[in-house]
Amino acid sequence: MTDVLQVRGLTVDYRRHGTRLRAVDGVDVTLRAGQTVALVGESGSGKSTVVRALARFVRPSAGTILLHGSASHRNRRYRRSLQVVFQDPFASLNPMHTVGHHVRRPLLVHGTDIPVDDAVAALLTSVNLVPAQDIAAKRPHELSGGQRQRVAIARALATNPDVLLADEPVSMLDVSIRLEILGLLDRLRTERNLAMLYVTHDLATARHFASEILVMYRGRIVERGPSDQVILTPRHPYTQLLAQSAPRRSRSRVAPVAKAAPTPRVPAGGDACVFIARCPHAMPACARRPPDVPVADGVVVSCWLADLDAPAPVVG
Ligand code: SF4
Repeated sequence: MTDVLQVRGLTVDYRRHGTRLRAVDGVDVTLRAGQTVALVGESGSGKSTVVRALARFVRPSAGTILLHGSASHRNRRYRRSLQVVFQDPFASLNPMHTVGHHVRRPLLVHGTDIPVDDAVAALLTSVNLVPAQDIAAKRPHELSGGQRQRVAIARALATNPDVLLADEPVSMLDVSIRLEILGLLDRLRTERNLAMLYVTHDLATARHFASEILVMYRGRIVERGPSDQVILTPRHPYTQLLAQSAPRRSRSRVAPVAKAAPTPRVPAGGDACVFIARCPHAMPACARRPPDVPVADGVVVSCWLADLDAPAPVVG
């Protein structure tokens, strides 16, 4: 598969009450054509900030972003090639405008090879909003949440993107239609050979719809690898905790880990492991940032215990 988007060392800092805080800390992501990568973590882990940085809504503090090998991420081609489907289909559509207006606008800005109205109808039909002419005349409040998210997806596809960033695209929808929307995204990925980043807190759908999973905690990727490997044999204590708290159908062969956050044995802060305050295995060495350790089957874990054969860290 062809690399479409290569992200290395993505870092995003922001200031709050005069203090500099780090929301994203050295994240690497590679998105390939026709592949979905899931970015998994709890609320506040920095997942959405990664999306906002890739979409250029916030300025990264450091790191490189290459689209088809080019660093020209401020140009028109980048904006056309990378589109976002947001979490909230209610907030992402202006209630004053019709569905047709929302889908037509990017077509007018970026161009289309066929008449605009035909392109609008084709896009609405491709997301199963039919009859397209009737749907195009409606305003957002006349649609269900699932239909609005389909409109948002159609609008994102209007620029014929190479990369789709789906930021918790079903978390605000009824449970009954979540799988429909994820199935639609999966079909569109295949049909359009899209490189997709699926941001979620749901391990079960991540395993089902993504071939690779990145587990994020407090701005850092703590485990990455093929979906089945990460879900069935989680190595990082945080991934184990996520897997334990997931619905039973997605549980895996997880080594026992305390569910409750223990009292930290080592003060957090500085360049310590980000999971130190909750980790039941925390030890003095964890006051140093652990390395990314390749373990097996393409899995990489950021933990001093990931490879017990590795040399013990020097604690200063
Ligand atoms: Fe736990 Fe230490 Fe591993 Fe961090 S490096 S996850 S604190 S054992």
